[in-house]
This record gives sequence, C-alpha cells and structure tokens, in this order.
Amino acid sequence: MRRMAQVTVDPDALRHNLARAREAAGPGRRVMAVVKADAYGHGLAEAAQALAEADALAVACIGEAACLRELGWRGRVVVLEGVGDAAGLREAAALGVDLVVHAPEQLALLEASPPRRPLDLWLKLDTGMHRLGFDPEEAAALHARVAALPGAGTVRWMTHLACADERASPATARQLERFARALAGLPGERSAANSGGLLAWPQARLDWVRPGIMLYGVSPFAGGEGAREGLRPAMRFETRLIAVTRRRRGDALGYGGAWVCPEDMPVGVAAAGYADGYPRHAPAGTPVLVRGREAALVGRVSMDMILVDLRAVPEARPGDVVTLWGPELPVERVAARAGTIAYELLCAAGARAGRRLPAQPRALAGGGGA
Ligand SMILES: *Cc1c(COP(=O)(O)O)cnc(C)c1O
Repeated sequence: MRRMAQVTVDPDALRHNLARAREAAGPGRRVMAVVKADAYGHGLAEAAQALAEADALAVACIGEAACLRELGWRGRVVVLEGVGDAAGLREAAALGVDLVVHAPEQLALLEASPPRRPLDLWLKLDTGMHRLGFDPEEAAALHARVAALPGAGTVRWMTHLACADERASPATARQLERFARALAGLPGERSAANSGGLLAWPQARLDWVRPGIMLYGVSPFAGGEGAREGLRPAMRFETRLIAVTRRRRGDALGYGGAWVCPEDMPVGVAAAGYADGYPRHAPAGTPVLVRGREAALVGRVSMDMILVDLRAVPEARPGDVVTLWGPELPVERVAARAGTIAYELLCAAGARAGRRLPAQPRALAGGGGA
C-alpha cells in the first residue's frame, strides 16, 4: 500500500551502530543483535543484511526465526521466547535455531519430544525482572536436568535486566550479583546486557551482549539521544505538506478545535497520522522539520494528517518535505513529547507507513560470526 508517509532505513547507520556495540562490548565478547518485531520496524531483511557481522541474531518467536532462514541467514538465531509446543520444537530443529528455555513446561516438552537434531539452549534465570525465567536457586538442578537431555546441544545462560536504562538504579547490580551467585561453578557462557546494560554497566557485559534499540541509533536512556552515545539514527520518517493555509487569530484547528491560533498565521497540513504510526497522543508543540527547519505540531493528530504551525517557516509550500523523525530530529524527542518510548514509535511507523527500500537490495550475506 502506497502512502505519502514513508520510512527509509540507512544500512550504513545500522553497520556503524553494530560496530559501536562491538566496541562497547570490548574484545572477546560476542554480539547477539536483536531484530525482533521486524527489526524494531526497520525491516528484517534490510536489517539482517546490514547486521551480517553480528555473531547471532535474536528474534522473539519461531515465526520470525523462520523468516530469517527464508531470507538466507545461515548464522546463529536465538528465539528469545522459545517454543510452546511439539510443533514449535520440530520447527526449531528443522531451522537449526537456538531456543531460550524459560519455563518448566518448555523443559518438559524437550524431555517428552527430544528434537531430531541437538538444539543449543539458553537457560533463562529470573534475577529480578519477574517476567520470564527460572528461580536462580534452581540453576544447578536445571543444568543437571538439561545436560541429561538427548536433544540438548551447547547450554548457555541468560537473564534480562529490568532497570539497565536507569544509570542510578541499584536494581541492576543486584540482578547481576544474583546471576553470578546462581551460576558459580556451573559451566556455560553467560548473557545479561541489553543496550542499557551494554552501555552503562560494564559488569553486565559477560560473554554475550544483546543490544537492540542502540543498533537502530536510539539511546536506551530516559532523556537520552543516540548521538550522545556515538550512535547514528537508522530510520527516517518523512512525508510532505499537502496544503498550506493562512488562518486568522482565534481560528480553532482540527478535531475538537483543540488548538486556537494566537494570531494570524500560516498553518500546514502534512500527510501523516496515526494510521502511519505517528503517535496520536503527540501534543501541540511536538517538533517536526519543514524544509529542514523546526516547526511545531498543533491540534489533534488525525488518522492521515497532522497540522503544523508554520510561523517559523513562512515560505513553506505544498510539496515540501516534512521530517517526523530522523537523523536531524531524534525520535527520542518525539517520544518524550508523546509520553511514550522511541521503541514504540519505531515499531509503529515501521509497521504502518510506506517504505522506501534501500537503493540496491543485495542477497543476504548472513551468518558472520559464531
Ligand atoms: C528486546 C530484548 C533485548 C534488547 O533490548 P534493547 O533494550 O532494545 O537493547 C535484549 N534481550 C532480550 C531478552 C530482549 O527481549
């Protein structure tokens, strides 16, 4: 479906950010690039190609893992939620992907229907996030049980950090201590760090790091911006002005007449709305760029359009490019205004807006590292 609002993805930025993640991780550590949710809206095919130097790609579910194999990715794939039934287990074996095991039901499944080919497994411990994972106290028993499985290949350990994006929170150090204590004396590589953990918590880096949001050029920290972390925003979300009008002082704009012109002024209509993934709750004052200059959203966001205060860009005309976010307007700023996080905006625009493909799609190189 062709819409005027378009997402473009810069593969060089993705490559740069992966190199930045590797540099932050330090020598000897492996990088599992997280590409769940269509690579945070950037497009799985394009992202996998640009991130081919990663040691593994991580996805949420087996369906996404199957997509990666169809795209020709032959390297390691980790399914972060694992599988929930025997069919999923058979598919994982056929695809040759790693599974996270986070619940007793998954362990029972592996015992009841051993996969035809040994699967590499990541045992997930719940060290404080209280979402997925086993009690750390059970680590030794868990390891013994998994080591006895005919269908288990290499066994590794992981946990997930709840507060790594808060540099001052004591929760991360507590989680990491719990992880280390639970695994003392047990074999197997370890992984804990998401983007926040990788950038802010050196003791979280361990054997494998799992960056997601930073690969797309976005800061994981509240109030942060990717550029401050040496990252390059990979997504550009743009549309065009479809009308420019002069309004009179006192004119109420858009649904509910929610914004009233304080003076005679030019107002633009840009062809992007919540149907394109632009946040409906973005308030008046949310920045957009028109002709590369900053202007402000006014009135309520509608399905296919937003209104723009053009007092700062009086020469603007229909057809002018409007940047909703991108390298010159960090998505973090828009997210903060809209009361959400950049992750959600990237996923929404990626799923809903039109997509301009990179100039020369190439075959997926796939499977750089381990
Ligand atoms: C999504 C996810 C990540 C990546 O998190 P970011 O904050 O995007 O870096 C890492 N590990 C797990 C288990 C995840 O679900």
